[in-house]
Amino acid sequence: MIDNLFEIANEIVKQADIVEVASHYIKVEKCGRNYQALCPFHDDKKLGNFYLNKDKGIFKCFSCGKSGNAITFVQSIEHIPFKEAVLKTAELIGYNDERLNNFVSTKPSISEHDQKLFNCLEEICQFYENSLFFSKDEAAVDALNYLHNRGLDDETIKHFRIGYCQRNGENIVEFLRSKGYSITIISETRIVNINKTPFRDSNAGRISFPIADKDGCVVGFSCRKFREDDTSNAKYINTSATSLFNKGNILYNYNNAINEARKVGYVYLLEGFMDVIACYRVGIKSAIALMGTALTRDNLQHLRFMKSQIRLCLDLDNPGQLNALNISNLFDEANIDYKIVNNDVDFSEKDTDEILKAYGDEKLRSYLGDLKNKGEWLLVYLSKHLNLKTLDGKKKMVNSFIPYLASLANLLDYEYYLNSLSRVSGFDASIIEKAVNKYKGKLDKKDEVAYTNLTTSNSTSKKDNPFTKLKLAEKQIVSYMLENKDAVDKYEIKLGYFVDSNYKEIANLIEEFINRINSANEYNVKNLIVFLDSDECKFLNKDLIRDEIANLALEYNKFPPYSEAHFTDIVNTINEEKENNLAIDTYKLNIKSNKSELEQAKYAKTLLSKRKFLIDENDKKRRN
Ligand code: ZN
Repeated sequence: MIDNLFEIANEIVKQADIVEVASHYIKVEKCGRNYQALCPFHDDKKLGNFYLNKDKGIFKCFSCGKSGNAITFVQSIEHIPFKEAVLKTAELIGYNDERLNNFVSTKPSISEHDQKLFNCLEEICQFYENSLFFSKDEAAVDALNYLHNRGLDDETIKHFRIGYCQRNGENIVEFLRSKGYSITIISETRIVNINKTPFRDSNAGRISFPIADKDGCVVGFSCRKFREDDTSNAKYINTSATSLFNKGNILYNYNNAINEARKVGYVYLLEGFMDVIACYRVGIKSAIALMGTALTRDNLQHLRFMKSQIRLCLDLDNPGQLNALNISNLFDEANIDYKIVNNDVDFSEKDTDEILKAYGDEKLRSYLGDLKNKGEWLLVYLSKHLNLKTLDGKKKMVNSFIPYLASLANLLDYEYYLNSLSRVSGFDASIIEKAVNKYKGKLDKKDEVAYTNLTTSNSTSKKDNPFTKLKLAEKQIVSYMLENKDAVDKYEIKLGYFVDSNYKEIANLIEEFINRINSANEYNVKNLIVFLDSDECKFLNKDLIRDEIANLALEYNKFPPYSEAHFTDIVNTINEEKENNLAIDTYKLNIKSNKSELEQAKYAKTLLSKRKFLIDENDKKRRN
């Protein structure tokens, strides 16, 4: 069992993107060759402490010292044991492995109370569904006609489990009580107000749209008024928050769309559930909707889990487009693959439901199929929202677009958007390019300075320490060993041990790790940390060692690239420094003992000449 877990964990960290995993919990932004964020493990007030490295798959906080790989991150932020962290990370990255089932038993099951609540909500949903087609309430016929007139056929109505809440609101309460539900449980579904008697359905007289959680269990309702004579205020009444229903972690139609999304490779993210239903009516089943306007971290996690391209299609009015801009920025930060449905349209309808009603299936399908990259979309967005007849508007246009230009890695994309921006804004491309470079320069400088200050602070403060040179040389060797298995072999032949106790431990850890893995391509820092974190590894100072490993891995680029010759040079420096330090040590030891001053002086002299001899010898060796 344990063996399996270690192997699965290795596989998971290999596939996991540390930046993606962390983005499930915190806001991460690019910073030079690394990524940074506010540290979630201490009360972090400003950026510049917490770094993530995508290539190495590790994170590290230079303030509180917390560090590790994707699994360590999940383990620390969720406060769960290693085994659960492996499961959770697998879930986050959508990693499927049958062997994982062996470990699932520890997952929390639903409480008896929540199960009762789930059952009660399901009964309510069925009652509403039946009421639409079969109740004696005359208005039910109107409700059905209303839905038909809006273009929903019976199949669609049944697919989305749309229902009708009888005008006599006491009926459903009676029905639920006859099924054995207490008024407490009924009130917890939020369909009745427990402070008002007689108890009755607060949705009475409305059309109901059930909302399900990610597993397809009904957790709440959105109920729409439809009758001309209905004088109640709200167009929709939504279930208020319950222990099962939290708008922030629900995406409408998620449970139906996920399999379809994985099949077709994309999913439409829309603003409301009528938009999702409109998509379904034109044959697009891979569609979901936000339950409020803002996208939450939970939503982001669920979107990622769909493993599909997200096609953002929010309302074409101002709030909808502004929200699309915000969400696209979140997607950029979280490295999510997405497109945006064209915003350069020749009609005034604002959402898919209205477009379908006004123009029919074909038009909606072609609208949804017209997808843009962020850049194309942003150019249109800015052109529409800024007054480009003024200099101010043109300047704002350029300044708002520059961060996007600066983020483009592909030269052709860059060239294309640079020219487009020049055309739209009227500024010469060479001027815009200068502005982009200035923007990039500022970013790089800021990040590099922050990062360098952090990583070098340790070594500069210890300048006067005679062990610095030795430690620095050892550090370089460990650093190479962490990156390169060849360096480990060389270390064993040429050096064999470190003076620094932490490096000594790391070398031991590496040795154990190499014995444990099956092939050399499993040899990398993030997998080494999996081994360190696993129960198999019995090291005592795990946090300290993990911290040191993350440090070394992040600083790796500061050293010259690994080569055998360079490695040998450092080994020589180490041996030389070992001798020097040995001399100093012995000298100090002698001072402590009560030898006479004369004896001490004599001894020191011998030592110094011995030191000089060793240095000369080493120089000779190096010259040969
Ligand atoms: Zn921290």
